[in-house]
Amino acid sequence: MEQRENRQEEVLVKPGKKKNRLPGILLSLVLLAAAAAGFLYADDFRLAVEPRGEMEMLVPSGRQYEDPGADVVLYDRWLFPYGLILTEVPVEMRSDMNSKVLGKYSVSYSAQAFGLSATAQRSLRVVDTASPVLTLISSGKTILPGRPYEEEGYIAVDNFDGNLTDQVKRTVGLDTITYTVMDSSGNPTTAERKIPYFDPLPPDLILEGEQTLTVPCGSVYTDPGYTATDNADGDMTEAVAVDGQVLWYQPGTYELVYTVADAFGNVSQKVRTVTVEAQSRPEVNWPKGKVIYLTFDDGPGPYTGWLLDILRKYGVKATFFVTDSGYDAMMTRIVKEGHSIGIHTMTHDYDTIYASEEAFFNDLVGMQDVIYRNTGVKTTLMRFPGGGSNVVSRYNEGIMTRLSQAVQDAGFQYFDWNVDSNDAGGALRAKTVAANVIGGADTHRVSVVLQHDIHAYSVEAVEDIIVWGLNNGYKFLPLKSDSPTMQHTVLN
Ligand code: ZN
Repeated sequence: MEQRENRQEEVLVKPGKKKNRLPGILLSLVLLAAAAAGFLYADDFRLAVEPRGEMEMLVPSGRQYEDPGADVVLYDRWLFPYGLILTEVPVEMRSDMNSKVLGKYSVSYSAQAFGLSATAQRSLRVVDTASPVLTLISSGKTILPGRPYEEEGYIAVDNFDGNLTDQVKRTVGLDTITYTVMDSSGNPTTAERKIPYFDPLPPDLILEGEQTLTVPCGSVYTDPGYTATDNADGDMTEAVAVDGQVLWYQPGTYELVYTVADAFGNVSQKVRTVTVEAQSRPEVNWPKGKVIYLTFDDGPGPYTGWLLDILRKYGVKATFFVTDSGYDAMMTRIVKEGHSIGIHTMTHDYDTIYASEEAFFNDLVGMQDVIYRNTGVKTTLMRFPGGGSNVVSRYNEGIMTRLSQAVQDAGFQYFDWNVDSNDAGGALRAKTVAANVIGGADTHRVSVVLQHDIHAYSVEAVEDIIVWGLNNGYKFLPLKSDSPTMQHTVLN
């Protein structure tokens, strides 16, 4: 702010034309003649001071005021009814005006002649009529295509208010920025800047495949993909953010939100809806007659070839719930020789696979893949590590209740057993294993037998079991997805 001292200013008189400019000598002669003629009566004369120009004048603040001046006029009813300007009579002027302070002032005029005196007054108003000066700064920097415009700066200065830069309003339009500012007297100023680079176009975001998808539960969801191309930034596919997740092992409807923004800030967004559909559960078909389903977990291993030789010798088909044990060629042989193959687990590590549904399903489909690569069979038969009634998963409460539902929604069928050879427990000799299996099978029309082909003594017991079974009217069958499951009561 400027310093505003309250001081009076000298009032300059504008040199102007004066009407009826009579030479002083002539005036004097006229006055003398009038006096001599006895016309001079004091009450007939009137002296007046008459300001020239408007009686109220606006003075732009900070500007030197020039007064148009005033005339001294003598009136007489008979002699000068329209007034006689006394050019020789000085007018005294006084003013309280301060052009740096807005407000009302006045100029007073006074004059004396012939023993008469007169005064007059003119109003002055100091106003601010000048708009602020708005200057846009140009840095000269090149604005790159696709980069948002960075303000280069601006300055607003007002004759009266001083620096008004921080009161400038900035409006960003499509391709123009408009700057406006107003001084304290309401005088506005507007300036415009064309934005050197403007990108009104958002990236073109394209979803490959359908925007609404239905996928079967239990198959790992693979997004069909997307592309994003921007007019300025080019290929932006890498910059696309995908929000959301498809729980491919849990039936439900999921939303995936794809978002990408170009450097100018234009955003494109697309949504894909993925429905994970529960698979229908296979109905169990009970076989006719007396049936034994031999099942072997945890292999293949070093004794699996021997076991396959025994089975082949009797033309008996069994079921192998396999692990990722590295005996890949043995998996191939299992399938080639007509046996059923099912998923047991990749790792058989209870702490890993029962940590979460996601962990379990990753292990499950991982093993499904290994089997598929070695056999060409995409099996949906499975057996839970530890069985459906395991308590080793109790560190994750309720996981077996959830998984036993989930695997079937995902199109898998899980099998437990109703005859345990106990070859993973106390039975460490072939005779004991055989006795356990025969003893169990003898009490059931249909048996699903649990054995492990990673134990030599268990494989050794198989021949006795087969011979007993065939001699007692049993058929040995491989498990199919509609075979009896002998599912245990879930304990977690
Ligand atoms: Zn096992």
